[in-house]
Amino acid sequence: MTSRKPFVGGNWKMNLHGAEAQNLATQLTESLPTTDKVDIAIFPAFGYLAQVGKIIEGSSIKLGAQDFYHQPNGAFTGEVSLSMLTDLGVSVVLIGHSERRHVIGETDSLVNDKVLAALEANMQVILCVGETLEQREAGKTDAINMGQTLLGLAGVKAEQMAQVTLAYEPVWAIGTGKTATPADAQSAHLHIRQALAQSLFNQKIADAVRIQYGGSMKPGNASELCGEPDIDGGLIGGAALQAADFAAICETAASQ
Ligand code: PEP
Repeated sequence: MTSRKPFVGGNWKMNLHGAEAQNLATQLTESLPTTDKVDIAIFPAFGYLAQVGKIIEGSSIKLGAQDFYHQPNGAFTGEVSLSMLTDLGVSVVLIGHSERRHVIGETDSLVNDKVLAALEANMQVILCVGETLEQREAGKTDAINMGQTLLGLAGVKAEQMAQVTLAYEPVWAIGTGKTATPADAQSAHLHIRQALAQSLFNQKIADAVRIQYGGSMKPGNASELCGEPDIDGGLIGGAALQAADFAAICETAASQ
């Protein structure tokens, strides 16, 4: 089995205004582990990407964007293109976060358009998948994850998979304080990896792809989650807004 470097992302969502965002970024440059045993990215709100980017420039923290539009330019009022993000120093993008799927209404087809465009633009992609509570209770967890993975990655070439990370984020666990048990999360991750091996690519590629867990990961539960064999770090929301908590999660992921 391939050893995978864990990857931890901090999704600030629509939180933190200018001074707060700059303050958190400054604290992170001072407190995040400098080890190369974990990759770390932060995803500030769009309006503060430039300011935060300046602060983390020269550190090992990658600048990420929470969303973008897949067209290169044109009459798409309110949207931001990949080349605009590149201008701002962004190198990682979140795609298909459950809040975009379930609150904003993004479809699998739009998610796939974004994945293909981001890979073409040489971005690192974090593709989020995950079931709702209703789907979990109906026993559909693995089918939903497989569907979102296959549709999201349709048309992606094998050689582009080095740019792709998946994030398994059960919708019912995001921002709720409820966390999947390590065993449930591990089972979902393993099924996603099997889908990559059997239905899209091959075992070698599936073994190399990092799959983050997201859904109320905190310093107190990061160790048991990240200790599972198919969990390769986390996508963190609430706990990413506190430098000490985010740093502790990154330390934990690095030490697994
Ligand atoms: C997220 O925003 O992707 C997330 C997992 O949020 P939280 O950690 O707050 O559940």
